[in-house]
Amino acid sequence: MQIDIKNSAGNLTSNQLKYLLNLKQTAELKELFKTAYQLRINNLDREIYLRGIIEFSNICSKDCYYCGIRKSNQKINRFKMSKTEILESAGWIYKNNYASIVLQSGERNDPEFINFVNDLIKEIKNLSNNKLGITLSLGEQDKKTYQKWFELGAHRYLLRIESSNQKLYENIHPVSHSFKKRLNCLNILREIGYQVGTGVMIGLPGQTIEDLANDLLFFKEIDVDMVGMGPYVIHKQTPLAKKIVDEKILKVRNFDLALKMIAALRILIPDINIAATTALDALSPDGKKRGLKAGANIIMPVITHPNYRKDYQLYENKELIGVSAADEFKKFDLSKELNAKIGYNKWGDSPHYFKRN
Ligand code: SAM
Ligand code: SF4
Repeated sequence: MQIDIKNSAGNLTSNQLKYLLNLKQTAELKELFKTAYQLRINNLDREIYLRGIIEFSNICSKDCYYCGIRKSNQKINRFKMSKTEILESAGWIYKNNYASIVLQSGERNDPEFINFVNDLIKEIKNLSNNKLGITLSLGEQDKKTYQKWFELGAHRYLLRIESSNQKLYENIHPVSHSFKKRLNCLNILREIGYQVGTGVMIGLPGQTIEDLANDLLFFKEIDVDMVGMGPYVIHKQTPLAKKIVDEKILKVRNFDLALKMIAALRILIPDINIAATTALDALSPDGKKRGLKAGANIIMPVITHPNYRKDYQLYENKELIGVSAADEFKKFDLSKELNAKIGYNKWGDSPHYFKRN
C-alpha cells in the first residue's frame, strides 16, 4: 500500500496506520519523520515546550507487572521528598523560566497523600505568583480529589491508559487493577476541564502492530489534548521482564516503533502536544532529540533531586542519575539541528484543547 502521507493529515485508517508502523526502508522513514515534523511546525509552532518533572515519591499502592517501583518490589528504598525539597525544586523550575511543572509519584489514595498534594499545589502557585502551570501525574483518584486539585490550580493531568486493548491491559496488571476504572478516570478528568494527557507503552510482550494502530485511534476517539507515550523498557525486578526472550532485539524494536508511533500520531492528530519521553533516552543517547525530529514538541527534563533519582527507576537505564537538569538540556542544540527553540516562560498549551466542544 502506498499512502500520500502529506495529504493524510488528520485522517488515517487503521490499515494506513499499520502500514506506517511497519515501514522499514530508510527513505520511507525519512519521509514519514519529515512530514510529521513539518506538520508540527504548521500546526503548533517552532517552539519546544518544557515541563520540569519532579518525581517526588516512589511509594505506590499498585503492582503493575512492568514497573520497577511496584509495591511488591522489596529491593528498593522507598522515599517521599519533603515539602521543602519539592518547593525548592519547583523554585528552580520557575527561576529557570520553564513555566510548567509536572508532579509525579507512585499512586496513593489516602487522605494524608491527598492533603499533601493540596498543599503542594497551593504553595507552588504562591511561590510563582500563579505563573507556573501545574500538571499532575498521580494515577487514579476519585472525582472529588481530581476536582479539588483542579480548583486549587492544577490544569493538566497525565494518566496513561498503558494499552487500549483491555485484554493486553489485563495481562500486564494484577486482577485488582481495572481497565474500566482507568478509562473512567480519563472521562472524569475531561469533564472537570483538565487538559488531558494519556499514552501507552510501546513494544509490550504480546502487543501487536494492530494494537498500536488501535492505540492511536483510541487517542483520537477520546479526543486527547496531549500524549506521552514511550517504549516499554525492561526492569529486571518485575514479573513482565521474565517474558522477554531477547532483550537486545526488544530495545532496538521498541525504540524504532516509538519514533514511528510519534510520527503517525502527529499525522493523525496534528494539533496536540506530544512528548518526547524520558524512556526514549534509556534506549538511545539522543532518544529525545530523535523524538522531537519525529514530530514531538514537548520535553520533560527530570528535576527530581539527584539523591532520589536512583530510587525512581521505573525501568533500567533511566537516565540522569547524577546529571543536573541544566546539563541535561544542553544536549539539545535546538536551533541548528531542529530549526526550533525552547519556548521559555510559556505554558505551551495544546491548541487542540481550545478547539474542544
Ligand atoms: N503512578 C502513576 C501512574 O501509573 O499513572 C504515575 C507514575 S507512573 C511511574 C508513570 C508511567 O511510567 C506509567 O504510566 C507507565 O507507562 C510508565 N512506566 C512504568 N514502568 C515502565 C517501564 N518498564 N517501561 C516504560 N514505561 C514504564
Ligand atoms: Fe505504581 Fe504507576 Fe508504577 Fe503502576 S506504573 S506500579 S501505578 S508507579
